[in-house]
Amino acid sequence: MKTINGKKIASNLNEELKETLQKLKIKEDITPTLVVILIGDNPASKIYVKNKKIKADEVGINSSVKILDSKVTEKQLLDYILKLNQDKEVDGILVQLPLPSHIRTNKVIDAISYEKDVDGFNSKNIGLLAQGRPYVTPCTPLGCLKLLQTEIELFGSRAIVLGRSNIVGRPMSYLLTNHNATVTLAHSKTKNLKELCKEHDIIIAATGIPKMIKKDWVKEKAIIIDVGINQIEDKDNNKVLVGDVDYNDVFSRVRAITPVPGGVGPMTIHCLMENTLKLSMLRRKLKYNF
Ligand code: NAP
Repeated sequence: MKTINGKKIASNLNEELKETLQKLKIKEDITPTLVVILIGDNPASKIYVKNKKIKADEVGINSSVKILDSKVTEKQLLDYILKLNQDKEVDGILVQLPLPSHIRTNKVIDAISYEKDVDGFNSKNIGLLAQGRPYVTPCTPLGCLKLLQTEIELFGSRAIVLGRSNIVGRPMSYLLTNHNATVTLAHSKTKNLKELCKEHDIIIAATGIPKMIKKDWVKEKAIIIDVGINQIEDKDNNKVLVGDVDYNDVFSRVRAITPVPGGVGPMTIHCLMENTLKLSMLRRKLKYNF
């Protein structure tokens, strides 16, 4: 029984990244640049964007936030992305999701040059990942992978991913496959999910259903990565964040589990910073080896 301390692991990785960025500045005079586009005034999106900017400042990445009105047209947004694609100073472009309903998310994501697609969401990057030759890997799955690698040899392991979204579940299943795990990708139409979960050494939960996974779903000594971030009210009517796994219920049965908060979240932001550095080096044909 062990908690996987994502906050601490991310903090150590951020320190290493900071040093790498300092060396890059001294040796090559390069400071990677990230542009985040925020549309409208969704409160959760504003917080996510603010946290990304704070972390970029901390590790030494140039970052700017472009705020666009919620009534911006799809064409205006696409034109702006095109400008950023052509801007030699920009290494990474991130469009904060969700977008207003009059804008097609896929169209926007695919408009970002794959070489600047720091989230790794566009169809070229997902295709490359699915083929086992990734250029840039989506941040949340990459963060989950790094956490798993602190605990288990993935080679030959059996992993189940709950959730098949384009930003978490699907890319997670490709990434685990690329690392030689045998992967089951489950979703809301999967039958006998509880029994299926019990057959796996690793559970990655990304359904958005609070505390869905209980002790009797879990194989003895399994490792659980809980991606879910769900706000619920506790018995005193206080708002609290919980994952997709009932942490207290499963704890005595598992080998290791990530908490919510303090598990996957900090790793997602770390991987965004790492991806920005990676893209800036790849674009300049510099050696990238971490
Ligand atoms: P999403 O787009 O809503 O996808 C949820 C997935 O879960 C869908 O594929 C859905 O299946 C599946 N699902 C729903 N009910 C299920 C059930 N009863 N059994 C099995 N599968 C079920 O969500 P998302 O964007 O992937 O996010 C998932 C969770 O992770 C959310 O809580 C989100 O807040 C969190 N998240 C955290 C981070 C982080 O950095 N920690 C990053 C991203 C997301 P269908 O496809 O059949 O509908």
